[in-house]
Amino acid sequence: MIVEERMRTYINSLDMGNTPFLEELEKEALAGRVPIIRKEMQSFLKMFLAATRPMKILEVGTAVGFSTLLMCEYGPENLKITTIENYEKRIPVAKENFRRAGRESQITLLEGDAGEILKELTGTFDMIFMDAAKGQYINWLPDVLRLMEEGSVLVSDNVLQEGDLIESHYLVERRNRTIYKRMREYLWQLTHSPILRTSVLPLGDGAAVSIKTGEQVL
Ligand code: SAM
Repeated sequence: MIVEERMRTYINSLDMGNTPFLEELEKEALAGRVPIIRKEMQSFLKMFLAATRPMKILEVGTAVGFSTLLMCEYGPENLKITTIENYEKRIPVAKENFRRAGRESQITLLEGDAGEILKELTGTFDMIFMDAAKGQYINWLPDVLRLMEEGSVLVSDNVLQEGDLIESHYLVERRNRTIYKRMREYLWQLTHSPILRTSVLPLGDGAAVSIKTGEQVL
């Protein structure tokens, strides 16, 4: 846990909640054990979308479309979202949720491995939301940077891994060691890149927010 439980509960209690449809979708996702963005990230995204008003978003990790639909709901009216998912069981559920929400025309769901799809994508996005395989963020970074222009923002979720990221190598389960090592490398790259300005926040499971400056930042 990154933020103490009582404080987290208090902060979340201040959020006014989402639309009834999103509340329902969140309940369904949680009941089905589908991992979706936490309350803290929901609240952050709502504020951030209002502040930055992106018109084109790329999301990596759709699951059943909860965060996609939250961004549609709280982003600008004509927002377009391209979202990537590779888990066959979740793809039809996401599609059905986009239909239920009446948002199909705003969303393009790309089915397959994000690593492969990111390589093929062209153009740029105003915002990229990374919420998929945490150990892969570092591998996907070159393509992610190519898909951003000056002023584009990158929001990376779950970057502090419940705080375990800074635990001793020996206290971390073997299968997580590589993921945490790669995530630390990813955060180092984000914070030391000459073309990014990044803040790492103890928000939810940890979030990194980066803006592409397009110039040498020292
Ligand atoms: N953003 C979603 C939300 O908040 O509603 C939750 C996304 S969930 C945390 C991560 C998703 O990324 C999973 O559904 C998983 O199948 C997908 N994923 C993981 N690795 C992937 C990959 N290499 N390519 C595409 N999708 C991937």
